[in-house]
Amino acid sequence: MSSAPRYVHDHDSGEGLRSVEEARDDVLSRITALTPIELPLTDALGCVAAADISSPVALPSFPSSAMDGFAVRASDVAGASPDRPVELKIVGRAMIGHRPDATVGSGEAVAIATGAPVPAGADAIVPIENAEALDEVVRLFEAPSEGRHVRPQGEDVAAGDLLVPQGKRLGAPELGLLANAGVPHPMVHPRPRVVVLSTGDELVPPTSTPDFGQVHDSNAYTLFGAVREVGAMPIMAGIVRDDVEQLRDTVFSYDLQADAFVSSGGVSVGERDVVKAAFFQRGDVRFYRVAMQPGMPQGFGFVEGKPFFGLPGNPVSVFVSFEIFVRPAILKMMGRAQLSRPEVSATLTADVEGPAGKTQYARVEVARGADGWSATPTGGRGSNLISTIARANGLAIVPTGTSVARAGSQVRVMLFRSSED
Ligand code: AMP
Ligand code: MG
Repeated sequence: MSSAPRYVHDHDSGEGLRSVEEARDDVLSRITALTPIELPLTDALGCVAAADISSPVALPSFPSSAMDGFAVRASDVAGASPDRPVELKIVGRAMIGHRPDATVGSGEAVAIATGAPVPAGADAIVPIENAEALDEVVRLFEAPSEGRHVRPQGEDVAAGDLLVPQGKRLGAPELGLLANAGVPHPMVHPRPRVVVLSTGDELVPPTSTPDFGQVHDSNAYTLFGAVREVGAMPIMAGIVRDDVEQLRDTVFSYDLQADAFVSSGGVSVGERDVVKAAFFQRGDVRFYRVAMQPGMPQGFGFVEGKPFFGLPGNPVSVFVSFEIFVRPAILKMMGRAQLSRPEVSATLTADVEGPAGKTQYARVEVARGADGWSATPTGGRGSNLISTIARANGLAIVPTGTSVARAGSQVRVMLFRSSED
């Protein structure tokens, strides 16, 4: 009589698996930044400058007045005071947005508004408070120094100065600066368009009520959010049945729009592993096992020259695989230099068990306390336990070789969102 089969956690030993570092380095070594394009400023927000951007003009581009008053020659007004005002002839006006209608000669003044160009010949402004305008003359009660209340041309930026260095990400200040300098279409690495596919005969969209045994497609939404949050553009390709032809047709139908593909499900060893079946001997996609938990089976390669990530199907595996492989790859496609998440060292508040032969990514909630960071597991280890991610803000890294990380010990934690979120 044979004994009943015993459930053994698969591949706990880690034998024959690629290390996370090796697998990730391999992926990243084959990813290149997307070809730069010129984008309008509003589309370029968050994109990385593909080349140094220099200013075609000086900023400010003309000398202007910082006050309402009179543009004068400082030498004409030297010695003026409330008791001994100097009188100058008003020869014209300088209005905002216009070329002044006069120049300032000796003994002359031009009435000027804040922001208006300083007329040629003038080198100082006397504010209106220190002046008394009569009909054709103005009486000035103050002796300004040369340059007083004049915003010089080029004070901020000289023509040819570097505005944004190559590799810098355009944020709000850069957008304003480039607009000011008249650079409306900076050359940047565009946002990758990432096609998101879910595979599985059991899947139904979240708008449908599943029959018994059917499952709502959650991975597509996790991936949509993750792709969008990293700054790329998700394209939802929907649910694909476990059918090799349908999968290939769907993937190829998105070829023209896609910069990358991310699928979930169908990459392990079951009979229904459709992604593997469709792309194993096609294109250049490799399927392998990584010494990580969750997320052991992975596929990566190129389809029609575009990176293709075949992630496993379990919801937690999808999230973790995205963090470890896809997110850094997308960042690299966007020309970013910093590809990894911030990490903190935290004290575990409970034991975390992990397979000794693999790196375990445990979902934790990290918090900053009086004596540093703490990390509290948000639930069990199963890669189907999706609520454990929603409650977490970090992934604690329990390295290969450790089967139990004890409460009180220090772990490295990758932070995937700020604690305020
Ligand atoms: P697979 O790798 O295709 O065998 O999938 C592994 C597990 O993940 C199965 O229990 C699937 O039902 C589940 N799964 C696969 N794809 C999805 C998805 N898009 N949303 C939710 N669960 C999924
Ligand atoms: Mg499946």
